[in-house]
Amino acid sequence: ATKPYDPDNIFARILRGEIPCRKVYEDQHALAFHDINPQAPEHILVIPKGAYVSWDDFSANGSEAEIAGFVRAVGHVAREAGLLGSGYRLLANTGLDGHQEVPHLHVHIFGGRPLGPMLA
Ligand code: 5GP
Repeated sequence: ATKPYDPDNIFARILRGEIPCRKVYEDQHALAFHDINPQAPEHILVIPKGAYVSWDDFSANGSEAEIAGFVRAVGHVAREAGLLGSGYRLLANTGLDGHQEVPHLHVHIFGGRPLGPMLA
């Protein structure tokens, strides 16, 4: 079972403008900003605007419009970051074994260098 959404998690506070971020993109469904501790030359986080704990929560409970909007936003951000030619990696850590630290769904976009077979 998914944990209830914590409205005081750090990404909720970023969405409310209570904490600053280096914004890359924003639309009706998604906000994208630079990761504070980048693991690659390009390391962007894309989050849905709705209150979803995880990939599990979002895929089960998000509306068709939210899901489609979010998926399109992730693609748009990667394209706008210039990563389409060289390629990139998407990652959505989920739950305990997935080492998800912030309980608001986020998709990592990594790029700007050869990333190897997998991130540790
Ligand atoms: P997770 O392990 O939950 O997938 O990753 C959380 C990510 O959020 C980490 O890469 C971490 O550096 C990033 N992060 C945590 N707090 C902040 C913050 O306040 N601002 C930004 N921009 N990134 C954050």
